[in-house]
Amino acid sequence: MVGRELDAVVVGAGFAGMYMLHRLRGMGLAVRVFEAGGEVGGTWYWNRYPGARCDVESVEYSYQFSDELQQEWVWSERYATQPEILRYANHVADRFDLRRDIQFDTRVTAASFDEAAGRWRIATGDGAEVSAAFCIMATGCLSSPNRPQFKGLERFQGATYQTGDWPHEGVDFTGLRVGVIGTGSSAIQAIPLIAQQAPHLFVFQRTPNYAVPAQNAPLDPEVQRKVKANYAALRARAKEGRTGLLYPINPLPASAVSAVEQEREYQARWERGGLGFIGSFVDLLVDRRSNESAAEFIRGKIRAVVRDPAVADALSPRSVVGCKRLCVDIGYYETFNRANVTLIDVNRSPIEEIVAGGVRAGGDEYQVDALVFATGFDAMTGALLRIDIRGAGGRTLKEKWAAGPRTYLGVAIAGFPNLFTITGPGSPSVLSNMLPSIEQHVEWIADAIGHLRARGLGRIEATGEAEQRWVAHVNEVANGTLFPSCNSWYIGANVPGKPRVFMPYIGVPPYVQKCNEVAANGYEGFALSA
Ligand SMILES: Cc1cc2nc3c(=O)[nH]c(=O)nc-3n(C[C@H](O)[C@H](O)[C@H](O)COP(=O)(O)OP(=O)(O)OC[C@H]3O[C@@H](n4cnc5c(N)ncnc54)[C@H](O)[C@@H]3O)c2cc1C
Repeated sequence: MVGRELDAVVVGAGFAGMYMLHRLRGMGLAVRVFEAGGEVGGTWYWNRYPGARCDVESVEYSYQFSDELQQEWVWSERYATQPEILRYANHVADRFDLRRDIQFDTRVTAASFDEAAGRWRIATGDGAEVSAAFCIMATGCLSSPNRPQFKGLERFQGATYQTGDWPHEGVDFTGLRVGVIGTGSSAIQAIPLIAQQAPHLFVFQRTPNYAVPAQNAPLDPEVQRKVKANYAALRARAKEGRTGLLYPINPLPASAVSAVEQEREYQARWERGGLGFIGSFVDLLVDRRSNESAAEFIRGKIRAVVRDPAVADALSPRSVVGCKRLCVDIGYYETFNRANVTLIDVNRSPIEEIVAGGVRAGGDEYQVDALVFATGFDAMTGALLRIDIRGAGGRTLKEKWAAGPRTYLGVAIAGFPNLFTITGPGSPSVLSNMLPSIEQHVEWIADAIGHLRARGLGRIEATGEAEQRWVAHVNEVANGTLFPSCNSWYIGANVPGKPRVFMPYIGVPPYVQKCNEVAANGYEGFALSA
């Protein structure tokens, strides 16, 4: 049964879906948002594990579409915690009266383009169906947790937790021996805090990751006042950076300076803390030798902190710094000096199976009462491919993306008219400060819809040719860097069977310029029709 007739359906009520709703409603469209979770916030609704916080500074990790909003909201720390970001998302929902058009606890299961009607039919898990002229996927890049398939898991008698789907009431690990599987960004945030509660913590590490100290602190009200007095200029400056972040990228290549100067720059960035470390020199992500100097600097820090040389060695990555997501930590390496923390290198001692009382790895059994899976996400494509999406002629997105995602600008897909993906594969998304990238996509999509409506048109579709060229360009840019050199989730390497394709686009400024040009040229690369 086809229910309400809508102009647009938005799937997801994280920061992307919330702003999309606000924007389209402001244009007078009838919009319905479906959200699988019970509230707004997306990432910050689901990821409630201990230590969850942003690694982009709070004053940057926030909306800028409303100056009143950015002036009135007060952040308490340099990097906001998950509860604070969730409060912020709820504040935005209240302030812009968003909830009345959001249907919570409702998962979209299918979306198919009805060629005759020129509309999308969207089906939800409760058996209902709606139709809308436009379907906008705000389903998130990191919203489909990667659930591990360990042999024997069903026999485990303790509790299991997934960082990306954490119990709302929190978990008290007091008195519980805990195993954490995974050492990516989430694990690096959670491990120091779990170690303070649990009598013993076993960390099962497959690949060590580079972590730079956050140097987190309460946000000085004076600093915040100055940011707010200057917000527009700061936001504009951030957009000139490769990642859309304010940290400066040193224009000098590491290869052009002495080892002493390299060390000085790395040390200064280390003391400043955060992701800006990767901007120490302009060539870190293109020149292997330069990158190795940064890598060795971090390994030196690990050796200086971690007392047991064997543990320090196991924690030291050998890969390119930054080609996997750089982690930002608060006391991560120090945690391995605690007597109640054991690191198990699963490269040497592979996890054989989960048993009733714990984990068997490398022939040894580790007794645990609780297991925490910090095993990441089926990134960028996972949430989209969980929905049965069928475009013109009934072709499924699964078929189309069998060899990896193909999009035009990461926002549209040839063969799928009137469907948009916010921060989709082929856009800077996860390689950028995501809130400004979300805003840029939302505004571009809203403008495209406005353009159609102003001309009495109803259909927009990326051409196969434009998509082909864009995919080739995304690959060409990636191949000019060190990014594809390691087994990261950016290339789908963390999910068994996932096609290996470098998914995000590198470089915010050229990307935004391209999007603007496409729009200014009457949506070049798109076919527009009635
Ligand atoms: C732990 C963690 C820390 C992060 N820290 C940072 C950071 O510091 N800086 C940064 O820039 N980015 C960070 N990110 C990335 C973060 O995902 C984005 O910044 C941003 O929150 C994404 O917003 P979104 O609305 O696009 O997606 P999400 O927040 O993921 O929201 C998508 C929503 O869609 C819903 N959904 C998905 N599929 C369906 C369906 N079929 N039906 C109905 N609803 C559906 C989901 O339930 C979810 O609520 C982090 C991500 C994680 C996981």
